[in-house]
Amino acid sequence: MTTPGVAARPTIVTVDDDPGVSRAVARDLRRRYGERYHIVRAESADSALEALRELKLRGQLVAVILADYRMPQMNGIEFLESAMDIHPRARRALLTAYADTGAAIDAINLVDVDYYLLKPWDPPEEKLYPVVDSMLESWKTADQKPVPEIKVVGHRWSARSSEVREFLARNQVPYRWFPLDQKEGQRLLEAAGADPDKLPLVITPDGEVLIEPSDRALADKVGLATSPQRDFYDLIVIGGGPAGLGAAVYGASEGLRTVLVERSATGGQAGQSSRIENYLGFPDGVSGAQLTDRARRQAAKFGAEVLTTREVTALEANGSARTVRFADGTAIDAHAVILATGVTYRQLTAPGLAELTGRGIYYGSALTEASGCSGEDVYIVGGANSAGQAAVYLSRHARSVTILVRGRSLTSSMSHYLIQQIEGIPTVTVRTCTEVTEAHGGDHLEQLTLWDSNRGVAEKIDAQRLFVFIGAAPLTGWLDGAVRRDSHGFVIAGPDLMDDGELPRGWPLDRPPYHLESSVPGVFVAGDVRSESAKRVASAVGEGALAVMLVHRYLERL
Ligand SMILES: Cc1cc2nc3c(=O)[nH]c(=O)nc-3n(C[C@H](O)[C@H](O)[C@H](O)COP(=O)(O)OP(=O)(O)OC[C@H]3O[C@@H](n4cnc5c(N)ncnc54)[C@H](O)[C@@H]3O)c2cc1C
Repeated sequence: MTTPGVAARPTIVTVDDDPGVSRAVARDLRRRYGERYHIVRAESADSALEALRELKLRGQLVAVILADYRMPQMNGIEFLESAMDIHPRARRALLTAYADTGAAIDAINLVDVDYYLLKPWDPPEEKLYPVVDSMLESWKTADQKPVPEIKVVGHRWSARSSEVREFLARNQVPYRWFPLDQKEGQRLLEAAGADPDKLPLVITPDGEVLIEPSDRALADKVGLATSPQRDFYDLIVIGGGPAGLGAAVYGASEGLRTVLVERSATGGQAGQSSRIENYLGFPDGVSGAQLTDRARRQAAKFGAEVLTTREVTALEANGSARTVRFADGTAIDAHAVILATGVTYRQLTAPGLAELTGRGIYYGSALTEASGCSGEDVYIVGGANSAGQAAVYLSRHARSVTILVRGRSLTSSMSHYLIQQIEGIPTVTVRTCTEVTEAHGGDHLEQLTLWDSNRGVAEKIDAQRLFVFIGAAPLTGWLDGAVRRDSHGFVIAGPDLMDDGELPRGWPLDRPPYHLESSVPGVFVAGDVRSESAKRVASAVGEGALAVMLVHRYLERL
């Protein structure tokens, strides 16, 4: 068998168990079609099917399949039936000897074979090419588009499938999604010979199949850096949100050997925001993904190393070196570290919510969406002050606002003044004992299923917008014993560390901590993870830049 090769051209596949005939057909096909089509020849049905599967995985189109009728493993009709399962749009022809004409005619009637060709086909100009021309013509009239990019095959509502898609999207890697409930998804699964219980599959442009890949395996395949190039840096930035990216841009552009370490994809919370309206210089708003992708490229342009899918799990001070340890036990060192790990908004996990996040479902500070709510009925999940403030704010725009709370009342979770304020707004309603159990919609949120635990009933309601305020946490447990944090886990820095005007306890230097410096000299903090920070993109970027300036000051005195 000749291998499929990497061909952007559509393919013509021919199979005949007689090597002489097989070579002759391929030669004649190549002579006339070789420039425009890739010709693949096989000498057995099995190897032809293997080639067809490989072409499928590479996203290459098969235009025509020519199969000999009499083959030992399976006859040409059986072969063409299997071939159709993989490439249903390819045109199909049987090569038959005169004695088999009857069987060939039956095949055309019984199974969907387009033509039969009598052997020998000499001269090809009269007997082979007109038939192949006509098959190519009818194949071309159908809408055929190759899929050369990464393919993701999975169950529509599988969390891991959606995580994989989100990971690729957040890293700006183009991919095509094939849910298993569609025929093409089934065909790719079959071509990969994969187990439907082990999904998602990720198929690379050169046909390699990754089964249930981890983010790190994906990152390696799509060319994202995951391993540091050196052991020692001037500056390690932990976290790839706006603060970390800002620090990496300023650090690298000012000549510091800088590495940024991100546990998932760069962009942070901002990368998940569909439109940031209040970032300086973008009067028409900018998508968070676009803004942070530009920042990532800018950092890389200045020479910062940007590592993704690497979670930092420990920070140590070893003399003047600061050691950063990864989840796999490996470590890198630097003169200085900037902590920019932000916060993680707690997410609702009910089906459909992940897919519709940013498309009608918003977390945390997505109140920039408020102006778009005019005349709409909007829903809020959460019983704390942030949910109450959002309800008051949104009621200025929306036709109605409904707060959904799991508990029996708001009194234990929301401030009294806010409850009173809410009670005074006729368009705000509170539904207690209520949970969102599913979100529905196509390209945006259309409906929610609510479960009323008091009455024991589920109800489907129309909803275009759902704002979720169930808390955000800095996830800094790994810094236990390393740097000082407040009671909510946010890192305390600068003047906030001072004890009644005295140097902080345990502070080893005779100067006070610099403005964004943590309780460990040379370890700085920027963005949302800092105690009392502003929780805004602009302030995170600004703190990233300021932290780098303070790193320079620290290094000068080292
Ligand atoms: C949906 C949404 C919309 C928003 N809209 C706006 C807006 O319109 N305007 C505005 O000003 N602000 C907005 N915000 C807030 C803004 O996005 C944040 O204030 C900003 O992203 C904070 O930046 P950061 O770099 O400090 O942290 P983050 O953006 O939280 O980034 C922190 C990064 O650190 C990584 N990380 C965490 N722990 C580790 C670890 N141990 N190892 C390695 N990496 C780690 C995380 O994966 C993350 O990528 C919005 C937030 C959300 C969620």
